[in-house]
Amino acid sequence: MSTSTAPEKCEFQAEVSQVLDIVINSLYTDKEIFVRELVSNASDALEKFRHLQLSENDVHQPDLPLEIQVSVDEEAKTVTISDHGLGMTRDELHENLGTIAHSGSKAFVKALEESKQKESALIGQFGVGFYSAFMVADEVTVETRSWKPDGESLIWKSDGKTGYEIEEAEGNVDRGSKITLKLREEAEEFAADTRVKQILETYSNFVSFPILIGEDRVNTIEAIWRKKKSDVTDEEYNEFYKFSAKAFDEPRYRMHFSSDMPIEINALLFVPTENTELWGMGQMEPGVSLYCKNVLIDDKPEGLLPEWLRFLRGVIDSADIPLNISRESMQDSSLVRKLNRVVTKRFLKFLDGEAKDDAEKYGEFYAKFGRFLKEGIVVDFDHRENLSKLLRFESSMTEKGEETSLADYLTRAKDGQEKIYYLTGADRATIEAGPYLEALKSRGLEVIYFYDNIDEVLLQHLREFDGKELVSAASADLELDDDVEVEGDSLDEEKTETLCSFLKEEFGDKVEKVEAGKRLVSSPVAALVPADGMNAQMRQMMAAMNPNEELPPIKVEVEINPRHELIHQLATVQEENPDLAKLVARQLFDNALLSAGLLEDRTDLIERNFRLMEEAMKK
Ligand code: ADP
Repeated sequence: MSTSTAPEKCEFQAEVSQVLDIVINSLYTDKEIFVRELVSNASDALEKFRHLQLSENDVHQPDLPLEIQVSVDEEAKTVTISDHGLGMTRDELHENLGTIAHSGSKAFVKALEESKQKESALIGQFGVGFYSAFMVADEVTVETRSWKPDGESLIWKSDGKTGYEIEEAEGNVDRGSKITLKLREEAEEFAADTRVKQILETYSNFVSFPILIGEDRVNTIEAIWRKKKSDVTDEEYNEFYKFSAKAFDEPRYRMHFSSDMPIEINALLFVPTENTELWGMGQMEPGVSLYCKNVLIDDKPEGLLPEWLRFLRGVIDSADIPLNISRESMQDSSLVRKLNRVVTKRFLKFLDGEAKDDAEKYGEFYAKFGRFLKEGIVVDFDHRENLSKLLRFESSMTEKGEETSLADYLTRAKDGQEKIYYLTGADRATIEAGPYLEALKSRGLEVIYFYDNIDEVLLQHLREFDGKELVSAASADLELDDDVEVEGDSLDEEKTETLCSFLKEEFGDKVEKVEAGKRLVSSPVAALVPADGMNAQMRQMMAAMNPNEELPPIKVEVEINPRHELIHQLATVQEENPDLAKLVARQLFDNALLSAGLLEDRTDLIERNFRLMEEAMKK
């Protein structure tokens, strides 16, 4: 094409080159997704234009049809996708097609840095927007004219390798963008109407603007979220999910509901199969779009749903939302807040129902997405109660791998049991080997096991369920029914007291008090964390949050088991061989700290252990 001024030649930003390099050289086989990516950009541009028209009077060529044209030239081996959307100015061309500031490709680069996955799998996960054109083309031309009255007719051109150039077009270009791909030899199949039509039918059925090949309309515009459930097939739902979430997986759950009260809502929400946050890809971006009577208002509105529901995909449509609501005023809108509350509540109720209908399927969901629910409990008081019904965990009354809920726990609670007991620990084996479980087990009380390191934070916020307090079985203030029969002869009171004060002396300043108690059965001793103290998980968390700060000193209470053989013997040895008694006392304390996860300095432990072995083998 001839031009009026010399082309402006530019280099791509480093990140763009990185993406292009991967896109061009990748072995990713689904190259056809470039059609979807470019059509979706065209649709975005049209959507933005439609929105802009609500507030701008002076736009260039206001009457062009809002549609997308796709054409091929079998001889020249080109595919062209054009729209009359908002177009781009020179600055916007640099910004949008020369640097990475935009969503899709940025997430891609970030994921590339963070993940060890094969690049091609990542391309599938994200699509790489505009740059996917270079999977099939060795030259891409963008003719564009901005909606702005003073816009220029411009041509952007690149081979995807050596940078790009922008020049003025000779004649006038219509408002919008026209993207022409000169196909590489191995991608020539895409220069055929039938092939392109077939791709469009797969990916672009839900684009809300007409897509035309010549005169023929390819897509059927359908706001399936406003249809009756009985009129939508599973395939249509799945296809819509893939289209709207730009996803490649099948949805794990879908919730489709309509309501008129308190506001008119048509919502179609999906839970994806995968939680990409578990792959270390950083926070998911919210993906539920807001519509008003089929017209998109915002595809990623902040505040439409709580942040902990950022894994949801889909659409919320409400006729009550004003069409021209701005992004800024969205969060302040009482209508949006109402939508948020109603839909969130409905979704939690939906999950509860799903969990009851198919516990196994729910368990799979929970394994991947349970963390979001926990996050919700921590940050969202309004929904805490409903969220807590959705928690699942193992307990002392389940098998390994079998999960139960708080409600189920209460059905098994003993008559008059006012508390819900739990223990936190790295895993089932660690919790069961510790000294804390036996007191409750021997009294027939169920103990919930929490393994996740965010559970500690969770438990600081989830203080009760159904009016019953949640209490740690390792806490010093655990009140247990003392009428229970405990087996074994107890050391007499006087000896116990002497032993306790001896131990207090030996244990040193980490210990607030040493007492005999009834909670222990087969362990001689346990370290308990007082209400104002910090357990091991809390200390770990604090250390992780403030790596340079010193943690406060450890503070525990120690309970001894006066029925335990070791304690009996220690009382005797304390009189007969005070040195050995001291050695045993310190070892006892370290063991107790070890079980509590609180032994931070192990040097003495080993040394002392050798000496105890020596003692044991004497004579
Ligand atoms: P994303 O769509 O995820 O933002 P892309 O790489 O697909 O990333 O596109 C980059 C940017 O280029 C878009 O955000 C948009 O601003 C601009 N753009 C792409 N295609 C068009 C188009 N057809 N009309 C107007 N702007 C476009």
